[in-house]
Amino acid sequence: MLIRDAEIEGRRIADLRIEDGRIAAVGRGLERRADDTVLDAGGAALLPGLHDHHLHLVALAAAQASVPCGPPQVRTADDLARSLRAAGDAAPATGWIRGVGYDESVAGDLDRDALDRWVTQRPLRIQHRSGRLWILNSAALERVRAADEADPLERSSGRPTGRLYDADAWLRQRIGGERPALHAVGRLLACYGVTGVTDTTPHNGLAEFAAFARARAGGELCQDLIVMGDAGLDAAAECHGLRRGAHKFHLHDAELPDFDATCAAIRRAHAAGSGAAFHCVTRADLAFALSALREAGTDAADRIEHAAIAPPELLAQIRELGLAVVTQPNFIAERGDEYRVRVDADERPWLYRLRGFLDARVRLAGGTDAPFGDPNPWAAMQAAVTRRSGGGAAMGADEGLSPEQALALFTCAGERPGGPARRIAVGAAADLCLLDRPWARARQDLAAVAVRATLKGGRRIA
Ligand SMILES: [Zn+2]
Repeated sequence: MLIRDAEIEGRRIADLRIEDGRIAAVGRGLERRADDTVLDAGGAALLPGLHDHHLHLVALAAAQASVPCGPPQVRTADDLARSLRAAGDAAPATGWIRGVGYDESVAGDLDRDALDRWVTQRPLRIQHRSGRLWILNSAALERVRAADEADPLERSSGRPTGRLYDADAWLRQRIGGERPALHAVGRLLACYGVTGVTDTTPHNGLAEFAAFARARAGGELCQDLIVMGDAGLDAAAECHGLRRGAHKFHLHDAELPDFDATCAAIRRAHAAGSGAAFHCVTRADLAFALSALREAGTDAADRIEHAAIAPPELLAQIRELGLAVVTQPNFIAERGDEYRVRVDADERPWLYRLRGFLDARVRLAGGTDAPFGDPNPWAAMQAAVTRRSGGGAAMGADEGLSPEQALALFTCAGERPGGPARRIAVGAAADLCLLDRPWARARQDLAAVAVRATLKGGRRIA
């Protein structure tokens, strides 16, 4: 393949020859060979394919087949009732209705009785947008209740409330069902120029790894994939384009795990050749993770997911321990208005920081956290530049990045989050995305960028 007149690294216009999945030549006026397919870039920017360093593929696929239950699609209880009823009419008579992205701003705290007012005939489950909570209606409770009562269902005076916290594995086991196919997710990501992803789902184990391997081998998913998960992954056999990632430690400050056990688990991860990745959305989560990493010792592959609240003293420790941070700049745009209400004023300056990390020379990479965030990395990059909530409020404006820094969050290698941006150079894998405009125009509004073509290993995937 020959790419004509591409703008490379925002500076020069050149042609690119791609052979055997790699960039074979870069230069002006490369000769067209008889068997060359030609892609005319017309002076638009050609970039390394993007890597989303934090998302959840299976949940994203499931979300695409679910009813949105929160903003922006659904904002009021009436909207929600309408959407659920419509989904009920469309679903097979005995089928589940699955809602996602619920936020209390829609209809307050939900329980089974609230859900029963909307849907009684079919089992309905709605996931809170934190991803930690499911709410089930009475028909759904009927389907999942265990005979022995040894279940994780929340109860009030002995009666299940319909609320189920942090029990995805249990719920999956009760409901059964197939893993959703990943075709649509792969295509969607390819349209954004994404050629690699890191799946950060904590319960990924051997079975999930094998399913990802099948999805890649069968062409369902064309992106390179790094799979984080639990210690079960240690035995997984890596293959082309599919690698084991860090062990994921999912912290919730209300219920932090045993400190010594956590240190032991970090050492086990390191001994198995993996990093440790800590989900930290509160100051307490982060303080706990940093203490445990300090005690257990660190590895270059260790990372903090989110680091949603990073006050100066903890940021200094992140730097000292040499940890990478994988942030979600899109949350400022998507949830900023909610943060302004829910996050204490004294912590708001430390919310989803960006420039503060770069200034301290902390390695920083970006992930959308789809489906809990919008999967469009271009919207995330623009949010990193503007630091504005959906309602237009400035959120820690001094944490904003330049468009080039925002892009770099998604162009560093999956194995080295926050490391150097991948380059377009002879010998590099032809994982590329061609924009619809030159960089000088793209940088004015990254959210407006459209990707004209995406290449993975020299093959066009979008
Ligand atoms: Zn996540």
